[in-house]
Amino acid sequence: MKEAVPNYYYKFTCIGDRCKHNCCIGWEIDIDEETMQLYNSLTTDLGERIRKNIEGDVPHFILRADDRCPFLTDKGLCELICECGEEMLCDICALHPRFRNFYSDFIETGLGLCCEEAARIILSETEPFALIVPNSISFSEEEKVFFAKRQAIFSVLQDREKTVGERFASLAEAFGFSFRFSLKKLCTAYLTLERLDERWTTTLHHLQDFSFDGTIFENRDFQILFEQLSVYFIFRHLADALWDEDYGLRVQFALMSCYLIGALFSCYLEKQGDIDFETMVELVRIYSSEVEYSEENMETLLTLDYRTIQ
Ligand code: SF4
Repeated sequence: MKEAVPNYYYKFTCIGDRCKHNCCIGWEIDIDEETMQLYNSLTTDLGERIRKNIEGDVPHFILRADDRCPFLTDKGLCELICECGEEMLCDICALHPRFRNFYSDFIETGLGLCCEEAARIILSETEPFALIVPNSISFSEEEKVFFAKRQAIFSVLQDREKTVGERFASLAEAFGFSFRFSLKKLCTAYLTLERLDERWTTTLHHLQDFSFDGTIFENRDFQILFEQLSVYFIFRHLADALWDEDYGLRVQFALMSCYLIGALFSCYLEKQGDIDFETMVELVRIYSSEVEYSEENMETLLTLDYRTIQ
């Protein structure tokens, strides 16, 4: 299948044992049918051990008591890759931290922000987001309309003549809402979602009482970062609008996410007097893993009535 990828895509390599939030810890990993067949066919000791560490109607690896994948070594490496190579990985492990959107003649693959290294790459990229597209891809009539609309959204978000605050406001207006949210109501809505980490709950409670003025979106130091962030959310989540034509809700999700992350940064800045790049990467990573990797959470946020978070 032909594949289009963002211009920063090839900068990514997994940093393995240097990763603070290894993706092989804390996530239940479902094993696809084809890989399960491969595991069932192995006659080696490793095959035996793999099967002993899998359970469930939807087969998945049994995490250890410390929430680590049973095949994650103490050095933070994957034993399956070390012993047999990447072809031994199930689809989820082989793809992570990438995500894919499928179109009639090609796929778009991006890097997900729940991986700290991917977040570093995306948030530090100074070149405007662009896609590296293979030669001779074709589009259906519906896709032509979709990609024209998406490009129009990207153009607003990447207009460097304006501040990101102005860009966000004009995009929101184009979709019939305003880039003004009630932080208290927004946090309340996020607190109804499924959450992975208690620290995220504490952060949201704390943020509820923060007085956020939104000036971070006018601050020169944060312009490119918020541009990349907003474009990422659109790139990742707009694709389904091709089927249901609900562009507004996905634009709202992208801008609401930037607003909440802007509030997180501002709250940290107020408390600490400064915020460094690694802290911003970490806050964005937490947001992504708490929100974007739960279908249920995404469904709730993508159907949120704007009037309840104003
Ligand atoms: S989170 Fe990213 S950098 Fe860390 S182990 Fe997973 S893929 Fe590698």
